[in-house]
Amino acid sequence: MNSQTKPVVIAHRGASGYIPEHTLAAKALAFAMGADYLEQDVVASRDDALVVLHDIHLDRVTDVVQAFPDRARADGRYYVRDFDLDELRSLCVWERMNADGSSVYPKRFPPRSGSFRIHTLGEELELVAALNASLGKRAGVYPEIKRPAWHKQEGVDIAPRMLDELTAFGYRDRDDPAYVQCFDADELVRLRNELGCELRLVQLIGDNSWGESASDYDEMRTRRGLKKLAATVDGVGPWVEHLYALDSGRPRSSGFVEAAQSEGLVVHPFTFRRDSLPSGFESFDALLAFVLGELGADGLFTDFPDLARRIIDASPLPN
Ligand code: CA
Repeated sequence: MNSQTKPVVIAHRGASGYIPEHTLAAKALAFAMGADYLEQDVVASRDDALVVLHDIHLDRVTDVVQAFPDRARADGRYYVRDFDLDELRSLCVWERMNADGSSVYPKRFPPRSGSFRIHTLGEELELVAALNASLGKRAGVYPEIKRPAWHKQEGVDIAPRMLDELTAFGYRDRDDPAYVQCFDADELVRLRNELGCELRLVQLIGDNSWGESASDYDEMRTRRGLKKLAATVDGVGPWVEHLYALDSGRPRSSGFVEAAQSEGLVVHPFTFRRDSLPSGFESFDALLAFVLGELGADGLFTDFPDLARRIIDASPLPN
């Protein structure tokens, strides 16, 4: 590994490999499994509450279709933004489903079961603070502003609200255990330069084909793009498939991790799943050995924080 400290384990939507994503139960389990950071995806309700959900839609992770059958938009989707917090709290949170109702990850938590509820960002920050106190730990938070341009079109500006909540829980500057992440480069520049955010920032780098934002991710992955990012952010969260190419079936570095680190950026790729491995890898252990050992990534987003913790703790680097 290139870095002098052990890579950090970021619990992607909590220990979402075991318990439905973004429930407080998934966060508590991730905490117990030794995650260094717990991830929060942040979206806004109709009454401007910040809630922790991955999508701007509700229909793939809740019983909204059954509970509020007439509340879909013209596209057939059910939007978090169309529901007040009280209504959102009345929903059951389920293991993630495909459009046809089948499980995205069939070996995980059984479909349409459990008694989990949607919670606010404040409630999750309170849980993390309380668990840090009761367990004597210092796990951090890793909130993502979801679809900021879309939310502004919908009449709500998430960033300043989120910063206020983080500040209230003591997350104020780069020494505090927090990273703020976003796919939208303009929003990160705004956080740093207009909103006075002194927390560590991470630019998520997807594939242009995903349509996540107006940002050009092909440009970001160039040396010039990374240099430009480094003027604003502290790290990058690239898609794992951009870190390597297959050469006769064997993974070879794309040079991205090294290039980003040479600009002073930490590299936290996503998403590491035992039950959905990227091309060219036959096991979770082989994948992590390559990304952490050979490429030298500084951390990773994983649905399986226990597995990553075990592998990292078995490495000889100091914590
Ligand atoms: Ca996320």
